[in-house]
Amino acid sequence: MTGTGQGIDSVGIIGAGQMGSGIAHVAALAGLRVVLVDVRREALLQAVATIARNMDRQAQKGAIKEADKEAALARIVTAEENDALSGCDIVIEAATEREETKLAILKGLVPHLKPEALIASNTSSIPITRLAAATDRPHKVIGMHFMNPVPVMKLVEVIRGIATDDPTFDAVQALAHRLGKTTAVAEDYPAFIVNRILIPMINEAAFVLMEGVGSVVAIDTAMKLGTNQPMGPLELADFIGLDTCLAIMRVLQDGMGDGKYRPCPLLVKYVEAGWLGRKTKRGFYDYTEDPPRPTR
Ligand code: NAD
Repeated sequence: MTGTGQGIDSVGIIGAGQMGSGIAHVAALAGLRVVLVDVRREALLQAVATIARNMDRQAQKGAIKEADKEAALARIVTAEENDALSGCDIVIEAATEREETKLAILKGLVPHLKPEALIASNTSSIPITRLAAATDRPHKVIGMHFMNPVPVMKLVEVIRGIATDDPTFDAVQALAHRLGKTTAVAEDYPAFIVNRILIPMINEAAFVLMEGVGSVVAIDTAMKLGTNQPMGPLELADFIGLDTCLAIMRVLQDGMGDGKYRPCPLLVKYVEAGWLGRKTKRGFYDYTEDPPRPTR
């Protein structure tokens, strides 16, 4: 392993959900060997099917060659246990956004790793310094915050924990560039850069809706056409997941201790109702209808 990231040949990924499968996709296409781990076998099967389908689409559009697709798929192996990660140069944790889950994963992972292996977390909001402290190597732990969908979105936010050393930072920057991404460096404060700005905007859109200032359609139209965003904030919230948006507001509220991060009661109510957005077919829009029908 070198400080320039030249030594990273194999990537372990923990969590084969939306993000883990996307990271596996871009890493395999970049020529890295990928070990994808999840505690749920169905998640692994689904991830491999999704990656193959998305690569097919890229091949049909001419973005990649058929042979590249086959070679990339052959570079991905899946496993249900962390011992499969023992040969990896870096492990990227992309499991469920719950602090207890991530801390338990990191504690269980460390005994399996090579001493020089790096650990990155794709967390959207949990402090990297706190995650790093659960490992035997805080200087080799860093945040690598990919955006959804990973194969499409160009950004990786790179977040240094208080102990992260320069060789780890340089290696991860080089890895992100190898995956075709542009990096933005953020300090380890709650929700980093993207979500610190984006999620309060979504929360404010929920307040605007709750107060009756505008309907779902008015808010999304206003922000799409008025600020040149490809998706309105409520449509985007449904895409991210309203539970995730709420969890990030709570991290901001706890971490900053400032009343301006108070979660909107209407957002809380949607989450309590189980209306989490696209993944449950209902959020600010009802996705059982085509086109999706605004719920307010
Ligand atoms: P997801 O629910 O789609 O996938 C999470 C996966 O983690 C599931 O398959 C689950 O089985 C697995 N998992 C849970 N506990 C595990 C364990 N102990 N060991 C191995 N696997 C385990 O979630 P996601 O949207 O892919 O998010 C994953 C991470 O990426 C979170 O930290 C999230 O904050 C972050 N993130 C999400 C987005 C987004 O838009 N969805 C964007 C950027 C970052």
